[in-house]
Amino acid sequence: MAKSKILFVDDDIKALKRFNHTFRAEFDVDTAVNAEQALTKIYSDCEYAVVVADMRMEDMNGVEFLHKIKRITPDTIRIMLTGYADFQTAIEAVNKGNIFRFLEKPCLNKDLRAVIKEGIEAYKQIKQVEEKAHTDSLTGLYNHNSIIEILEKYVTQAAAAKQPLSLAMIDLDHFKKVNDTYGHQTGDNVLVTIAQVIKEEIRETDNAGRYGGEEFLLVMPETDSVQAFIALERLRKRIESQKWEQQGLKLTMSAGVKQYMDETAVCFIKKTDDLLYLAKKKGRNRIEIFEAQAE
Ligand code: GH3
Ligand code: MG
Ligand code: MG
Repeated sequence: MAKSKILFVDDDIKALKRFNHTFRAEFDVDTAVNAEQALTKIYSDCEYAVVVADMRMEDMNGVEFLHKIKRITPDTIRIMLTGYADFQTAIEAVNKGNIFRFLEKPCLNKDLRAVIKEGIEAYKQIKQVEEKAHTDSLTGLYNHNSIIEILEKYVTQAAAAKQPLSLAMIDLDHFKKVNDTYGHQTGDNVLVTIAQVIKEEIRETDNAGRYGGEEFLLVMPETDSVQAFIALERLRKRIESQKWEQQGLKLTMSAGVKQYMDETAVCFIKKTDDLLYLAKKKGRNRIEIFEAQAE
């Protein structure tokens, strides 16, 4: 398992070196000499499991610094090192929920290690709860709310940066018949397999969610409609040729594919869903793409 990322912030360079030396075997250690340097790291999309900061730094006091971190990466566990004179401030910071623990300086490595380990456990638990809240329990894909949130995020980005973004709405054909013929449990197993196939066929940067019962939404950043169409065709063929253990079971999918064109996320979904509807109307087991882009 990958080591947890820990950031140690102190304007005492010797302390930074000591920290790095003591803990680098156990944790993925990073250091910063002041709050500004630390915040630059955190702003550049780096999320630490635990940040350990000295209470007194030249450019910012530790409480204020950790409070800033709370706003940028709220899940990061914040630990403060304090001198005797700062006790009252440290207690207040703990009580306000701004820091997880504080340790009096100088502290023993074993005490610091124990507190960091507690912090890592707390961080992992937060992440587990979050992941559960975002995941569809049957298929392990993003759930309905979560995939829409992801789409909204990418729509905002695509609108600002003029990067291509494509959306695909997938629906399994005549899925009701699968349930009616083989039972609901088999239907569930089929959905799990389809989700697995989708995960295998898409790129790492693509996002797949279960939009509803047997409907899936794919959010494909930096992908134009032609590239998206090719990916969906690949998926369609893979599902069509999938061998199922149930005798006589054959399954196909239909999909609508559309590139983002300065619309709202809701409108984007609606237009993609209209294309899916068209694919169904035209006989199923096919992908429909927005006409103006297909030419
Ligand atoms: P179409 O080709 O028009 O999409 O036909 P369809 O039968 O796939 O569509 P319809 O919307 O009529 O039925 C969808 C079926 O999907 C009915 C429902 O029982 C089934 N379904 C939805 N969610 C689940 C699920 O979680 N598990 C199982 N086993 N079946 C599900
Ligand atoms: Mg459906
Ligand atoms: Mg269907």
